[in-house]
Amino acid sequence: MPLLANKFDDDNVICTKVDWLLNWARLSSIWPMTFGLACCAIEMMAVGAGKFDIDRFGAGAFRATPRQSDLMIVAGTVSFKMAERIRRLYEQMPEPKYVIAMGACAVGGGPYYLFGYNVVKGVDRAVPVDVYVAGCPPRPEALLEGLFKLQDKIRRDRILRRAPRAVDSLPSVASAEPAAHA
Ligand code: SF4
Repeated sequence: MPLLANKFDDDNVICTKVDWLLNWARLSSIWPMTFGLACCAIEMMAVGAGKFDIDRFGAGAFRATPRQSDLMIVAGTVSFKMAERIRRLYEQMPEPKYVIAMGACAVGGGPYYLFGYNVVKGVDRAVPVDVYVAGCPPRPEALLEGLFKLQDKIRRDRILRRAPRAVDSLPSVASAEPAAHA
């Protein structure tokens, strides 16, 4: 909502009502990107299937392009090679956009934390993360719970009084690269 974002300084009844309406529409129609990296992606796919049916919560329209997506679910192990691609996909998503780090690998390196020289120790070193979902892998219900947390966050958003996230404020992927290994 770039035309309206950050155009109002003070809280008032009109801002609050417009915020409520926009937030309600936004949290009820989240479009995740079709995007999986490793085993956690299988659980993410299960969320889209009939048994768990993420569509019940308005987030079932998985898109095949970042330009039509407002949610990136990072499901799997993030290698340094992939981190650059994740950053590029994130930058191609229109504002407002959100990120869920799904599983121990995306949250903090997971089982590769100690010896995975090629694994980024948390995708929040490449893109800003809104919700972390723990587990190896998290069950589909856990991802749904993460979605509910994200919807709560969107519900509290103040669209008319916040500027879009600046791209140059993103963390540096290069700075997350490991030191030279012996
Ligand atoms: S957290 Fe576990 S299940 Fe998920 S990608 Fe990593 S190793 Fe696989």
